Amino acid sequence: KYAQPERRPAVVAGASSGIGAATALSLAAAGHPVALGARRTDKCEELASQIRAGGGEAYVGALDVTDGDSVAAFADKVTAELGDVEVVISNAGSVNPGTIHEVETERFQREVDLAIGGAHRLVRAFVPGMVERRRGDIVFVSSDVAVRARPFMSSYAAGKWGLEGMVHALQMELEGTGVRASIVRPGPTWSEMGTDWDVDDAAFVLNQWVRFGHARHPHFLKPTAIADAITTVVSAPRGVHLNLIEVSPEAPL
Ligand code: NDP
Repeated sequence: KYAQPERRPAVVAGASSGIGAATALSLAAAGHPVALGARRTDKCEELASQIRAGGGEAYVGALDVTDGDSVAAFADKVTAELGDVEVVISNAGSVNPGTIHEVETERFQREVDLAIGGAHRLVRAFVPGMVERRRGDIVFVSSDVAVRARPFMSSYAAGKWGLEGMVHALQMELEGTGVRASIVRPGPTWSEMGTDWDVDDAAFVLNQWVRFGHARHPHFLKPTAIADAITTVVSAPRGVHLNLIEVSPEAPL
């Protein structure tokens, strides 16, 4: 006797691990058919099997957000498999530590492009259709580093600051279209991020982070905490726009 939820196909870009994987599971649990995109499609397939085993609908596609052709091909396949996309989560990201004057310009540009260019390619692929249909949600996963830069993450900070600037402009452009663009800004979250750093780099960055006072509570959130915030944003009723949610670890009792 319960009302069936509306069918709102959702895309998670960067769904193979961490926050994106948790978000795909959370959106599926909320009734969304979910398209999981990443370079490591094997990892996405494992999640898709889990979603299907629970009675959900899932599609997996290869996706590299740094490549416009890959994003366009992914968008076409998702639409063919799941129908018009109503929810997009722009979550792909990575962070590589390095002292700014030692990071090669090409690497710096690549890392900034992943954050800003990747999000822009997703906007180009999905937002025009949403505007035409006068409904949709696009959520950008930013970082607390977007407003409190940390040393040795200059390209990451530049990317996330730039991303938030782009989203603020997008929010104004989308006013009155029925499409909501939102930012979810996680604090430190336990994921695969940083697990490929060498141990000295990781220890150094964490040390500096605490020393510079940016981590008052240097413990980590679970990816599900961010996934819950994202699902809340896209579940807001019409007439309500959750523009920005920052999620931080609570201070220990
Ligand atoms: P993970 O490393 O666990 O996940 C990163 C995801 O991004 C993976 O699914 C990866 O998939 C995907 N990805 C990376 N590059 C690309 C690409 N070129 N094209 C498509 N997908 C890509 O880290 P998190 O879950 O922590 O990170 C998710 C987001 O959260 C990022 O935007 C990050 O900046 C942000 N964030 C994380 C915080 C943290 O403390 N962990 C804090 C604040 C923000 P694959 O490699 O298979 O392509």
